[in-house]
Order: sequence, then C-alpha cells, then structure tokens
Amino acid sequence: MSYCELCGKHAAEKKMVVVDGTVFKVCMSCSKHGKPYTPSQVPTAAKKKKAAPAPTQRQAKIGMADDLVLDPEFPRLIREARMKKGVTHEQLGMQMNEKANLLRRFETGSLKPDELFAKKLERHLGIKLYVSASAAAEKEEK
Ligand SMILES: [Zn+2]
Repeated sequence: MSYCELCGKHAAEKKMVVVDGTVFKVCMSCSKHGKPYTPSQVPTAAKKKKAAPAPTQRQAKIGMADDLVLDPEFPRLIREARMKKGVTHEQLGMQMNEKANLLRRFETGSLKPDELFAKKLERHLGIKLYVSASAAAEKEEK
C-alpha cells in the first residue's frame, strides 16, 4: 500500500514532484501542484541553500555578544560629521526624514539617540556611534 504524501489518499500510481524545493511522492491529481522531479537539479540546490546560512548566523551571534554601547562622545561625533558634510540641522533632518530639533539635542548631548536613530545617523554621516563597552568606559574616565 502506498499513500500520497500530500493529500494522504491511497494512490496506486504515484509521481515524484517538487513543491517548495521538497520532493514528494504524490498521487496523480496532486502531481499537478508541483514541478516534475529531476534528480540532478533540485535536491542538491536545496541542500546547498540549507547548509550555507549556518556559519553566518553563528558569526552574527558573536557580533551581538560583543557588548556595543553608544559612544559617550556621540554629541561631538555627530556635530563634526555634520559640519564636515556642510549641512545644517534642517538639511540633515530633511535627508534623514527626521526632526532637526532632535539632531540639535543630540549634538548638545541633552538627548541620546535610540539605537534605530543612531544607526541611521551612522549611515547618513558615515560615522561609528557604537563602540565596545570597554572603550566607552575608558573614554568616560578621561
Ligand atoms: Zn494526493
């Protein structure tokens, strides 16, 4: 006895088809839903795809574990990077689609950018606002 792997019905005659990169033995009516199975192509490609992301995921985790904090000198870093670009708070705010008033407050240090905003600043200004926790502590001591 053999059963269709998709609908579960008993199937005297079965076909091998590929659905979402997985090979199924299915009945004739279900075989219409998948692509015909060709041994040389699909399974190896699927295997390679699955194997590849593992190392990168591990690397990302290590990166996360490395304690990164906002550089205590962020007001100066933002200000200097903005001046270098020769743009005003308003212009930079327009570019970033953010309020110029927030940028002013970051530069005076009266407000700390949250992670999302800081990352945005890093991208727009080409600076690094995050440093390792130990480096930040060293800076604060000075
Ligand atoms: Zn079926």
